[in-house]
Amino acid sequence: MNKKDYYEVLGVSKNASDEEIKRAFRKLAKQYHPDINKEPGAEEKFKEIGEAYAVLSDPQKRSQYDQFGHAAFDGNAGAGFGGFDASDIDLSEILRAAFGESFGGFGGFSDFFGGSTSSKRARKGRDTLLRVDLTFEEAAFGIDKEFDLTLNETCDECKGAGGFDEVVCPTCNGRGTVITEQRSIFGVIQSQSTCPKCQGKGKSYKRSCPKCMGSGQTKKKKTISIHIPEGVDTGYQLRISGKGEAGINGGPNGDIYIECVVKPSNFYERDGEDLYIEIPLTISEAALGCKKEIPTIYGNVVMDIKAGTQNDAKYKLKGKGLKVPNSIRKGDMYAIIKVITPSKLSREQKKLLEALAQTDLENDSIFKEFKKNLN
Ligand SMILES: [Zn+2]
Ligand SMILES: [Zn+2]
Repeated sequence: MNKKDYYEVLGVSKNASDEEIKRAFRKLAKQYHPDINKEPGAEEKFKEIGEAYAVLSDPQKRSQYDQFGHAAFDGNAGAGFGGFDASDIDLSEILRAAFGESFGGFGGFSDFFGGSTSSKRARKGRDTLLRVDLTFEEAAFGIDKEFDLTLNETCDECKGAGGFDEVVCPTCNGRGTVITEQRSIFGVIQSQSTCPKCQGKGKSYKRSCPKCMGSGQTKKKKTISIHIPEGVDTGYQLRISGKGEAGINGGPNGDIYIECVVKPSNFYERDGEDLYIEIPLTISEAALGCKKEIPTIYGNVVMDIKAGTQNDAKYKLKGKGLKVPNSIRKGDMYAIIKVITPSKLSREQKKLLEALAQTDLENDSIFKEFKKNLN
């Protein structure tokens, strides 16, 4: 049979370190694990990478392979190392070795091989994510908000135990796990699984807690108050540590994350903490200069528009932007001038503009600059 090069299978070089090989295997194993990847050929691929890793992660086998290639493990070729056959590979063992602790946290992954006994471990409660819709003004100036949530809390009747009068679990004798045999693509494998009677706790109770029905947790309505700081934008997250769902087996509570979704303003264009506003000017206002009232989020300010202001001129109003959340820093506001060309003119206005058309721009400094750029 024409076998693929083990290094190629894992996508590493011939002189890859053990760590690199492990990393490559972990990545591919997650990608092709038959519990995760349901595409045709994934199982074959998974076995292939398992075999490659079994050889390359073992220093002795790796050196044999480096010298003799696949022949090193082929009895017929007479290389005579024997003792190794692809079908002998215990993939669950390899996975456990490659993934260590995190192997247990893989959901279906660990169930497939009957993996870990992690259900006995103290685990942090689940985190909760809430989204809060804010108007532009609420986000700009901060606001106190309240949320109603229903969370799993430790049952106060049984203090999270789930029952009363503790006894050693008769099903698993306190181990928390039972040995079962499973059929899998690798043949029958013996595996440990969480004890169904005690859910891995290793103990059970003569009397189940009536309040939580033995789960150790009850649902509770809670009202959470939080202050949204000034200047938040969409995507800004606040964390309320330890107020989420109750932990499992005495683990700490989860956290609550609050993610802000900010509506855009009707007036301002926002760029981080800076704000932009367009200020329309008539031709005469732009040409002669004027005073303009500009609305900032902190109230109106009067701005001096210079005579001869051009379209798209940018006026900076320092410190009139948004606050940077939890900081003393503030952004700026920019007023962008939009000179409006009149589209409807009275006869009188037309005459005035015609007189204006005689304007000699040859001596105008901006016009000179414009011409210079053309050349
Ligand atoms: Zn048990
Ligand atoms: Zn209870």
